[in-house]
Amino acid sequence: NEQIVLAKRPEGIPGDDIFRFEETEVQEPAEGEVTVKSIYVSVDPYMRGRMSAGKSYTKPFEVGAPMGGHVVGKIEKSNAEGFEEGKYVKGIMGWQRYATVPADHLSKISNTELPLHLYLSTLGMPGQTAYHGLLKIGKPEKGETVVVSAASGAVGSVVGQIAKIKGARVVGIAGGDEKTKYLTETLGFDASVDYKSDDFGEQLEDALSEGVDVYFENVGGPVSDEVFKHLNKFSRIVVCGAISAYNNPSEDIGPRIQSTLIKTQTLMQGFIVGNYADDFENADRQLSEWINEGKIHTEVSIDEGFENLPSAFRKLFDGSNFGKQIVKVADE
Ligand code: NDP
Repeated sequence: NEQIVLAKRPEGIPGDDIFRFEETEVQEPAEGEVTVKSIYVSVDPYMRGRMSAGKSYTKPFEVGAPMGGHVVGKIEKSNAEGFEEGKYVKGIMGWQRYATVPADHLSKISNTELPLHLYLSTLGMPGQTAYHGLLKIGKPEKGETVVVSAASGAVGSVVGQIAKIKGARVVGIAGGDEKTKYLTETLGFDASVDYKSDDFGEQLEDALSEGVDVYFENVGGPVSDEVFKHLNKFSRIVVCGAISAYNNPSEDIGPRIQSTLIKTQTLMQGFIVGNYADDFENADRQLSEWINEGKIHTEVSIDEGFENLPSAFRKLFDGSNFGKQIVKVADE
């Protein structure tokens, strides 16, 4: 059984030397456990935080132990009632070809008519993040302007589409022509702005003639500094992520917008998706409905091959992923 462990803690973007491939035995499932064959493995920006030792909302990965995250797989062997072999499940598992885990840590995937990778994107953790962050903190009203950064990504794309469903005007910020065109032409955003272009500031100003009522923050850094110039009175900033700082935390000296927040009476709130677990089922139902009605479109980048997990993970930090980044490690 092949697995990928954290070989040492990274500085900057994790190179190949940070990951080590190992062979282990597949463990027999004890009472209440199942062995799952990994099929789709998710790579997510938060994993970069867990690779460092600092205190956070979740424990760091241990050096020498497998990397891990959300996985969709198939039950290969079961020692748990109600979990039949051959059925699809999702859950948090190691970066391993086979993982033996307690069945009650897994969710069953009953609707296999939808593409399975959706359970790692819109019907998984990123979709939940978008739903709760936008609707419970951002609370966009009809006609308000919602701005979202990393807008073509797993979380951002769902944020923008829910905001449209709620009748808001949506402006997406992303890197490059292909992504900004996708936002307006495929996802129906009202405007999109390329933060990598030389005139980003002017483009943003044009798109925000009515200011910003909700800013869904995914990136931090200079992108956010520009958005902060356009905050409306009583605006809300949903602080979901700050990916521009994940590989250089010492340079992240924090927001310098206190005076603006006072003048505009803006609410700025960080959040962690896990805090909304009580309402996951409800959100899941609603997101599934929107997908079935064609109101939410999901883009995925699927790299093939277990050995490509580290390189797929790095794509998140240079934007070479398009939509939710996933690695397919075995056939369905
Ligand atoms: P994405 O699918 O959006 O992939 C990451 C994207 O971030 C890249 O494609 C790139 O898009 C953009 N990016 C990378 N580096 C920079 C940079 N230096 N400046 C600006 N943009 C950059 O990832 P997710 O949707 O999975 O995650 C989005 C954010 O949400 C992350 O910050 C993540 O940590 C956060 N998050 C927070 C959760 C919570 O509970 N609070 C839960 C889940 C995610 P582009 O090409 O446009 O630059």
